[in-house]
Amino acid sequence: MRSNNGLSWPLGAKCALSLTYDDGLASQFKYAVPQLVQYGIKGTFFPSTWGLTNPENFRIWNQISSAGHEIGCHTLHHPCGNSFDFVKKGYSLQDYTLDRMEKEIMTNIELIREFGYKSKDLVFAYPCGQTALGARLETDYKPLIENMFIAARGTKRDYAVPGNILMNEVPCFGVEDDGQGLINIVKEAERTGTWAVILFHGVGGDYISVTAEAHAELLGYLKDNKDVWTAQFGKVAQYIKNINEG
Ligand SMILES: [Zn+2]
Repeated sequence: MRSNNGLSWPLGAKCALSLTYDDGLASQFKYAVPQLVQYGIKGTFFPSTWGLTNPENFRIWNQISSAGHEIGCHTLHHPCGNSFDFVKKGYSLQDYTLDRMEKEIMTNIELIREFGYKSKDLVFAYPCGQTALGARLETDYKPLIENMFIAARGTKRDYAVPGNILMNEVPCFGVEDDGQGLINIVKEAERTGTWAVILFHGVGGDYISVTAEAHAELLGYLKDNKDVWTAQFGKVAQYIKNINEG
């Protein structure tokens, strides 16, 4: 049953798909980017600080952006709840106020704007998918994000259903699947007429990984597939917004 609520995807496609890559990992440079180029597909990357402030990495991100991939904001210090053991002292969401978060994101936006984006076109991904901050994680920071970005990716595992999409927390599929598992996520989007957003971390290395082969198998399925509109996260969000406002 198609549930796209009267929304038509571009070029007669049955569904939309966005491939997103978090944390600016070396395995993404090594495997994911060359494969995307090989298959002619554009992705969305959400690096956090180290990738943007190190000059060598900044050069790489600039190349990736120039090739048509999207670079989004993922904060600078990647604050998550203090139950995660990788969170540095003083940098957990419990240590943040809305004001501190806003300042950090403004700096993040300034860095990303150097790739040529306009502020109003930028997208965001919540570190660890968490949307609240403060001593008891009592403050929702989604309204702040909604003011600063056209869309934000959360981590709730679901399809985004046209007519019922909250752009300040778009769901996605965090994956560690094999190639067929990745393709099955897309096939369900085709069947239901929805927007699937896939969240990758490592590709052929690093953490929460898929293999390079699985990633290539998915791209092979998407290449020249007219039933699936594969586009950058912000591009799909903008398309939906234009229809809702038009
Ligand atoms: Zn992250």
